[in-house]
Amino acid sequence: MNSRESHALPTRIYEERVARVQKEMKAQNIDALLLSVGHDLPYLTGYHAMPLERLTMLVVPQEGLATLVIPRLEAPRVALHPTVFTLAAWNETDNPVAMVAQLTKDARTVSVGDQMWARFLVELLASAPSAHYSRAVDVVGPLRKVKTQSEIEALQRAGAAADRVATQLHSGLIPLVGRTEAQVSADISARLLEEGHDVVNFAIVAAGENAASPHHHPGARVIRDGEIVLCDFGGTMADYCSDITRCVHLGTPSQEILEAYAVLQEAQAASVASAQVGATCESVDEAARRVITEAGFGEYFVHRTGHGIGMEAHEDPYIVAGNTEALLAGHAFSIEPGIYIPGRFGMRLEDIVVATDQGPLAMNLVSHDLVVLA
Ligand code: ZN
Ligand code: ZN
Ligand code: ZN
Repeated sequence: MNSRESHALPTRIYEERVARVQKEMKAQNIDALLLSVGHDLPYLTGYHAMPLERLTMLVVPQEGLATLVIPRLEAPRVALHPTVFTLAAWNETDNPVAMVAQLTKDARTVSVGDQMWARFLVELLASAPSAHYSRAVDVVGPLRKVKTQSEIEALQRAGAAADRVATQLHSGLIPLVGRTEAQVSADISARLLEEGHDVVNFAIVAAGENAASPHHHPGARVIRDGEIVLCDFGGTMADYCSDITRCVHLGTPSQEILEAYAVLQEAQAASVASAQVGATCESVDEAARRVITEAGFGEYFVHRTGHGIGMEAHEDPYIVAGNTEALLAGHAFSIEPGIYIPGRFGMRLEDIVVATDQGPLAMNLVSHDLVVLA
């Protein structure tokens, strides 16, 4: 059973969200919004569509009730909110694309969710070639980006659960030396579930020179004494995601690693402190990058500083050069600078932070130090 189904919110939340989306559709002159797999659908209805070849599609008109077009066999999984959407279940011999086309036949401007299968969009395009198509992210994204108090609390609970696993890592409760990265990754994954996550989204474990690859896939490499181990893990808990990176060092670190880590820690703290309401996303990236660049490691910080987080592990806003968007209270994102020396070692330090009127609020409170394990 999909544990995500048990986190449905009160109907009034979905009513409010759909009403706000329809208001935005009106402002942007969008006649119909089409959402298939992806997280806009559960955000507006509480329903998580399985990424099936069978079509599931929420059709939101600019005014009036939305329709959830859904394979009949999936219908029992839908928690009904009759004031939000009506259900249009299709049988195996029906043509669901034709059903959607019928529902949108008068729409001249159609917004489409990012994660809709290309297959369905191609078929829809053929059925209404004169409509103008755009991305639904411009309609739903601005709403999803600003987290409400209850969403922030959900992120805090997920963050606290991830912190408990990081604490286990820091206190040596997760055996490292002599195990493979893959074994440690499986161990961390089990602990994320044990601490309350419904799903593990990733558990990167990268030892020594492997830590120089930011998205390293944990493998058969055996972890040895005398090296740094980077652990970046997170999951989904009651519909909201966690994401944290901490590094530990097995035995006494070299002077070089200690110096690089001090720079990293300063950069990450500077970036968190800069994440004030009104600051631009690119300035938060720059706050970390400046510290790392001035210390001479600039060429080894090869990715953006962070990504938004919420129902998805990566979503808007992105903390990256060129993003001049100003932070609003309720924006939630990672701050995760790294230093990666190819062939030798790597390190990253990551917290989830929410911009608030009282300043940046960290979802991860566990020690930021490079913890040395004997
Ligand atoms: Zn990533
Ligand atoms: Zn991460
Ligand atoms: Zn991240």
